[in-house]
Amino acid sequence: MISLEGTELASIVKKQCAADASDFLSRFGRKPLLAVVLIGSNPSSRSYVFGKRKACDLVGIDHRDLFFPSEMTEPGLLELIDGLNTDDDVDGILVQLPLPKHINESKVINRILPSKDVDGFTPINMGNLLLGNPCLAPCTPKGILKMLDYYGISTDSKDVCIIGRSNIVGKPLSAMLLQKDRNATVTVCHSLTSNIRPHVAESDIVITAVGKPGIIDASMVKPGAAVIDVGITRVEDPSSPKGYHWAGDADYESVSRVCGAITPVPGGVGPMTIAMLMSNTVDAAFMRKGIKR
Ligand code: NAP
Repeated sequence: MISLEGTELASIVKKQCAADASDFLSRFGRKPLLAVVLIGSNPSSRSYVFGKRKACDLVGIDHRDLFFPSEMTEPGLLELIDGLNTDDDVDGILVQLPLPKHINESKVINRILPSKDVDGFTPINMGNLLLGNPCLAPCTPKGILKMLDYYGISTDSKDVCIIGRSNIVGKPLSAMLLQKDRNATVTVCHSLTSNIRPHVAESDIVITAVGKPGIIDASMVKPGAAVIDVGITRVEDPSSPKGYHWAGDADYESVSRVCGAITPVPGGVGPMTIAMLMSNTVDAAFMRKGIKR
């Protein structure tokens, strides 16, 4: 059984990003710049934003942190994005989700200039992704594919089961796997799938992005299959010094005994998501100068 170490690969990707960011600095006299917008004080969102800031510092990407209280209005946020869109020093714009309920998320995402949309969430980037055109692709699916490539797990003619159909993981990942450079046969399950078990059991690669610990156990998985666990849930745990631990969707203990490869949680998909955000930001900076890496 191979443990798919996202932390290790993410560090390789970030080293390459650092070399590219330094090349950008020497050519254009400034570092690539990522603007991060955070509305409100959701602790998970804050911790994700701090993780992204740390990665920027490591790679040599400037970051502009734009933090506002949850009372920020939708017109106020749209105006802020308009300003970032036209600011020539800004290469990437990331709006940390979720937004407070009074702000329409899709309206906000749609306002981001596609060339600065380093999350790959705008309709233009999603549309190009579906069509197989060059685009800034969402970081989590991109990180998953990078990890499969790194560990030599081909998707060619493989049966792949994705559990979860969110706009940030399941949907874009299914589109990427269907392209002619991946050639997977893709099944996407969701909360109204009558029974996920037979779909999982037939699959060579299972990618779960639900956020429910234990939804995948050993009895469901085909022996030798690769299991990519995107889910990450904080579970209260009085036996742990912190009082909690992080759990993936797959029951790691049992699944790791039958599968051929599995991502740990934490330390699997999560670090890859941040590494691909760094990569997209450097790509966006070069593309805005007319250079495709
Ligand atoms: P989401 O938007 O809440 O989507 C969850 C998906 O799971 C939905 O499509 C839902 O179906 C489906 N689902 C719920 N219960 C199910 C069940 N019993 N059987 C089958 N499908 C079920 O979540 P998300 O944003 O994609 O994130 C999913 C998980 O991945 C979370 O734990 C999140 O924290 C984690 N995540 C991690 C990273 C990373 O970098 N490590 C990145 C993104 C997300 P419906 O569509 O029918 O509701």
